[in-house]
Amino acid sequence: MKKILFFSHNNNKIKEVKKLFNEIKINIFSLHDFPRILEPDETGTSFEENAKIKSSYGYKKLKFPCFADDSGICISALNYFPGVESRRFLEKNGSHEKTFKIIINKTKEISNFKAYFQTSISLTFNNESIFFKGVVRGKISSEPKGKYGFHYDPIFIPKGSKKTFGEMTIEEKNKISHRAC
Ligand code: IMP
Repeated sequence: MKKILFFSHNNNKIKEVKKLFNEIKINIFSLHDFPRILEPDETGTSFEENAKIKSSYGYKKLKFPCFADDSGICISALNYFPGVESRRFLEKNGSHEKTFKIIINKTKEISNFKAYFQTSISLTFNNESIFFKGVVRGKISSEPKGKYGFHYDPIFIPKGSKKTFGEMTIEEKNKISHRAC
């Protein structure tokens, strides 16, 4: 069977991606299957650059097709920050609760709740990379809600829904998420 590496240690993302590939006969590996492969520094200034850094690094190490995503949440009230800084923003604030408070307070202060998740996926094979982009638009909720998902999921309500990503099962999120479209 053909094989492919999803260059990620993030269990939530791995679960989502493996479910998306359910119907396709291909063996999907993740970095948990190759513990000796370390993650390179994400030094790019765009989702695309960071995704390529990861997928080309994986391909160089394993010599079979490798894809990686780089994603983040872009919030209008914060001038589309944190974007590529999404993970670092959470780390810098020290907790999800504090981060959610900063975001929710700002969106309420200026009555602008617009936000979107973006992902860039880079697929590298034969030393070439191709890119896919996914966006899901929506708004920041007035309070964190839900027990599912990860990181920013409890404060993001996709357009056309009443629920946050945090209130959706993987199956529900996978129908509309930035990684699915
Ligand atoms: P990376 O693409 O693994 O570098 O992830 C960047 C960061 O964006 C993650 O650590 C999360 O904070 C955020 N992020 C990306 N996708 C999602 C999602 O589907 N839900 C919640 N947070 C996400």
